[in-house]
Amino acid sequence: MGRDTGPACRQCRREGMKLFLKGNRCHMAKCAIETGRPVPGQHGNRRSRLSDYGVQLREKQRLRRTYGLREGQFRLFFHRAVKRRGVTGEILLQMLEMRLDNLVYRLGFAPSRRAARQAVLHNHIRVDGKKANVPSMLLKAGAKITVVDKPGCRELAKQSLEAIGTRDVPGPSWLAIDGDNFSGEILHVPSREEIAPVVNEQLIVELYSK
Ligand code: SF4
Repeated sequence: MGRDTGPACRQCRREGMKLFLKGNRCHMAKCAIETGRPVPGQHGNRRSRLSDYGVQLREKQRLRRTYGLREGQFRLFFHRAVKRRGVTGEILLQMLEMRLDNLVYRLGFAPSRRAARQAVLHNHIRVDGKKANVPSMLLKAGAKITVVDKPGCRELAKQSLEAIGTRDVPGPSWLAIDGDNFSGEILHVPSREEIAPVVNEQLIVELYSK
């Protein structure tokens, strides 16, 4: 199933928040949200108050766009989350976090989820020493992710790690990152508090439960 290929900054403008879709540019002053560019569309900034449905829809779109999934794929994730035991919204977020492309991004081996997806598709990544080229693959705690030891594969990861280093942002507490060896390990499945997206996942559960 495909990914969301629309213009990245337009998606952030539509959602009125930074979704961090473009890598380093998202941390610069020229980010479209920082510069205050308007919501896309002729009446973008003059939209009336949202209905309950509208609020739920926007929340879902924010999460879906953050992880770069198309509607069908996102809905599939939701239905898989419903079948698991526990709080559906939290499980949905955990499943999204445990996708291979997201993990490559979270480990800092790619500047964005889009770039991470490309790296996975182009065979730059190994999981537990084995070939892994499916971005939607769900990993488990204890899995080890490495960037293939070839200059072409490690260059992107090196640049990304260097850029993160200059921003001095601590990595996720649930991942062990070994930048020198271009490898990382999942220490545990992240709790809700350890997951970054600023969304109200309960609204998404309500939307899909109608
Ligand atoms: Fe979104 Fe990044 Fe574009 Fe800013 S630069 S609007 S965060 S994609």
